[in-house]
Amino acid sequence: MPYLDKDAILNSLTKEDIIKICTEMGSQTYKENAQGELCFSTSICHGGDSPYKLVYYPNSELFKCFTCGDSYGIIELVIRASRLKGQNLTWFKALARIAQITGKSYEGTPDKPTQIINDFEWINRLNSIKKNNKNIPNLSEINENILEIFWYVPYQGWLDEHITREALSRFEIGYYGLTNQITIPHRDINGRLIGIRGRYLNDYDAQMFGKYVPLFINGEFLSHQLGSNLYGLHVVKDKIKQCKKIMLVEAEKSVLQAYSYFRNDSFVVGLCGFNITFTQIKIMLKELKVEEVIVGFDRDYEEADSFEAIAYYQKIIKKVAPLVPYCRVYLILDKKDRLGYKDSPTDKGKDTLIELMKEKILITMEDVNEALERHE
Ligand SMILES: [Zn+2]
Repeated sequence: MPYLDKDAILNSLTKEDIIKICTEMGSQTYKENAQGELCFSTSICHGGDSPYKLVYYPNSELFKCFTCGDSYGIIELVIRASRLKGQNLTWFKALARIAQITGKSYEGTPDKPTQIINDFEWINRLNSIKKNNKNIPNLSEINENILEIFWYVPYQGWLDEHITREALSRFEIGYYGLTNQITIPHRDINGRLIGIRGRYLNDYDAQMFGKYVPLFINGEFLSHQLGSNLYGLHVVKDKIKQCKKIMLVEAEKSVLQAYSYFRNDSFVVGLCGFNITFTQIKIMLKELKVEEVIVGFDRDYEEADSFEAIAYYQKIIKKVAPLVPYCRVYLILDKKDRLGYKDSPTDKGKDTLIELMKEKILITMEDVNEALERHE
């Protein structure tokens, strides 16, 4: 599939384009009201029959359905309307459909893989990177068509955990009935599909195989090296490059929660584990050129003022140590018991996350030296 420039396509949509798309999707009528808003049939939202109750607001570029109450952008509209016709569209396919209907084809050039750049003086100082002076690996790509076998109905369990429908469709979260798993496609920074992880919904399966595992389809594991990528980067990379900040969390679900709170302003990506690899460090420092890294691991201690909490803090400082000389590194520590045991900083809603971020702690070289000495 060609690499479509999402922003170029969406930013170029005129009212006429919106009318074209909605008509093509099956709205049999439309009218423009005195405020310049476009009113379409609810048949393309939820299969309703009110001719003008689905309203498009050109300023916010959002639709609002006055029958079911939902609000969303044009891509979600295309996904919904197609679903009503029995077609299962992924987010990327919906974007391609919009490009096709409106005759726009912005096939942007994907970001080039990073070359080794000599003028990064710091890299010579980082011994471990010198020893491991390879490029960021280009992971092999999985055929996009596999995404069509999943079912894209928003998973209620995640909607109940502060995740919006928009986030579920932007990250292409689906469902695989054969194994009763939520499907989580992983893409690299350029949007190439490199793996699909599944989350078991059945407790027994989750205990047997682990909660999050690579999906097994047609006798093949759709796995990739999790440590060679940062989950969600293809969605939030522009914001990261613009603000030069990145926040690291452990699980995919946390990335979706952050996106639900901040939409295009989110700069949160997932490590998909508890380690920060050299490849991930290179992606952050060389490719994204971040100046600030905020680390928000799951709360892995029961009491805030305990030996366990201090041990946790020391453990995380060791993990972030390679980053500390090169950028500002902050830790999120829950000192006021806002989170439950094993909660991610994103689990308790937007306000809690913002409070935790305000209280983040700067990690200095002294902290690092102290933590390393303690463990030697
Ligand atoms: Zn509706």
